[in-house]
Amino acid sequence: MAGLRLDTPVQFVSGVGPVRAEQLKALGVETVGDLIEYFPFRYDHRPRSQAIGSLRLDETATIVGQVRRVRTRGGFGREVVIADVEDGTGLCTVRWFNSAYLRDKLGPGVLIAATGKVSQYRDRGCLTNPKYRIVGGESLDAVVNGESFDPVYPSSAALSSRRIGRFVAAALAEVVDQVDDPLPDSLRRARGFPPRRAAVQRYHLPTQVDDVEVARRRLAYDELLMMQLAVQLKRAEAERSRRACPIETTEEIDRRIRARFGFELTPGQNAAVADIVEDLARTRPMRRLLQADVGAGKTAVALYAALAVIANRRQVAFLAPTEILAEQHHRKITRSLADSRVRVKLLVGNTPRKERRSTLYSISSGEANLVVGTHALLEEDVTIPWLGLVIVDEQHRFGVRQRARIRSKGNDPHYLVLTATPIPRTLAMTVFGDLDVSTVHDMPPGRQPVRTQCVTPPELTPAWERVRKELRSGRQAFVVFPLVEQSAALPLKAAADELEHLRRGALSDFTVELLHGQMRREQKEAVMARFVAGETQALATTTVVEVGLDVPNATVMLVHHAERFGLSQLHQLRGRVGRGTHPSLCLLLTDTESETALERLSILCSTSDGFAVAEEDLRLRGPGEVVGQRQHGIPEFKVADLSRDTDTLETSRADAMAIIAADADLSRAHHRGLRSALLERFGDSMALVDVA
Ligand code: ADP
Ligand code: MG
Repeated sequence: MAGLRLDTPVQFVSGVGPVRAEQLKALGVETVGDLIEYFPFRYDHRPRSQAIGSLRLDETATIVGQVRRVRTRGGFGREVVIADVEDGTGLCTVRWFNSAYLRDKLGPGVLIAATGKVSQYRDRGCLTNPKYRIVGGESLDAVVNGESFDPVYPSSAALSSRRIGRFVAAALAEVVDQVDDPLPDSLRRARGFPPRRAAVQRYHLPTQVDDVEVARRRLAYDELLMMQLAVQLKRAEAERSRRACPIETTEEIDRRIRARFGFELTPGQNAAVADIVEDLARTRPMRRLLQADVGAGKTAVALYAALAVIANRRQVAFLAPTEILAEQHHRKITRSLADSRVRVKLLVGNTPRKERRSTLYSISSGEANLVVGTHALLEEDVTIPWLGLVIVDEQHRFGVRQRARIRSKGNDPHYLVLTATPIPRTLAMTVFGDLDVSTVHDMPPGRQPVRTQCVTPPELTPAWERVRKELRSGRQAFVVFPLVEQSAALPLKAAADELEHLRRGALSDFTVELLHGQMRREQKEAVMARFVAGETQALATTTVVEVGLDVPNATVMLVHHAERFGLSQLHQLRGRVGRGTHPSLCLLLTDTESETALERLSILCSTSDGFAVAEEDLRLRGPGEVVGQRQHGIPEFKVADLSRDTDTLETSRADAMAIIAADADLSRAHHRGLRSALLERFGDSMALVDVA
């Protein structure tokens, strides 16, 4: 039979066979190529061994020697197995507690390697409960002098890491020479990378500790470069096929728009405005993400863009994720444009039939300049004929994949996406890779950060007293529970119970209402409206308040079981307070005993910078959690790690840009490798014609 190839079914790797092949399939491995890209997630390090005669107290050492004598001490259940081990330079004692079974494995003459901390036993060195293995069949030289790294693979009940390692090694031995390098040679050298084939080999079977990182970076780069190429090629394709109406922002327009704001824009806001003005002036549609922390004033920047577009006689759609937020935007925008000629309309799901009809008419006749709405704007019967700009607030609430497409006539609109969850740059470049990003880092003057404190059970009473104090002085409070939204009866009941509990207990002197995701819309709106109007003093709620709700009189938030939330989520939550002139407080209740959980929460107490929080969240919980839920649209990587590979991502992005700039469809000979790797990975969804 012919030798293995990368696309050979894995069953034909020596030692695998049909049964093991099924087990490998469960791990996502079907071909030989899959197998050699099934990478270890860590390595067991076998350090270089040390002569027993030169052991030093309190140091961790590995010894290799022969067992001279073994004995057992202690009674049933508390046996100690004690072995004397000798290597020609000295004698040392090795003992294990509660491992009576070792007695039979460790006869005199057996050669063992043991790693542990050196203590003293009688007059000699001693290792207690060391990691050990019995050395057999290996060259003694290698064991004694060499250092090695054993790969540890993600395993299953049916397949141990060790067995997987054997399969991988067998496959590598036959096919590693067939692994092609997708990178042009000059680029690979410029980046100082080993050939891909060497990286694959070394990542599985490193011979020294540096091998792992060198190999990992190369493989991560390949994944990130492929992703960047895919994103940028798609984007280039979209740019070729879309035409937008250029928007001119004259000095006169600029002056009139600024006069509408009751404040000066911050430097950060101004920089974002400058980016937007430049984008809008082009004939290709703007695709820009504006990210800024809660309260940084994204709406003002968006409104600037909207007014510039309206001044150019185009219409603007402003999409909000919920009706409450759409209404809030509509209310504020209408107010700030009250004495202007700009016509603002609201279109949401519960807009009454008749009103809806007249709104639609006003939109289609061009009378309405700005339409604020929810996904109701995406419906069949809505056409915004002169649509020039779409603003999407809180984008990932829509699901990143589900880009809003509003029907219009003629040109494609410009897009501006606002996000209040600061996304670490690496993530933004991945999830929003096809968008340009403007980031506002500063805050409007006079903002007071929300003081944040962790509260453990003994401090509970004073914490509630703080809440009551705020309420007594006329402020309002949020009490947040970690109830799972969207799941049936249980949390509903739990929410109701919690409300009862509050009403009878800690907040018995105040008006408290409940707000959660499963309430009917009208009910929700009514509850919110009463809270906004100050009729309700405290709102017991779930994460539904996370996004955008603006109640300046709310000054205190108390979060139950704070450890169950993500850091970014808590940061969003606390953004609901501290929106007025009064100092605000966020109390994170937790009864967790986990050090890491407490440490995690303490990050919120020490910084009010959402970006710092998000970076930390990314490091601790991974990308899916930061961006939220399932539809996050983050590609899966085998090797790349978005919280670590920031530099590699930046490099790969710049390289992808340069590659496409020089060779828009990767048709040059030295890009053949990249091209086929892309086609293999992303298939026909790439706008590349497969010429191979
Ligand atoms: P977010 O970025 O969270 O959407 P908003 O746009 O809702 O923030 O702005 C929060 C508040 O800050 C609003 O009341 C807004 O009027 C105010 N604001 C925005 N920009 C400035 C500024 N440059 N100076 C003073 N206040 C500002
Ligand atoms: Mg906002």
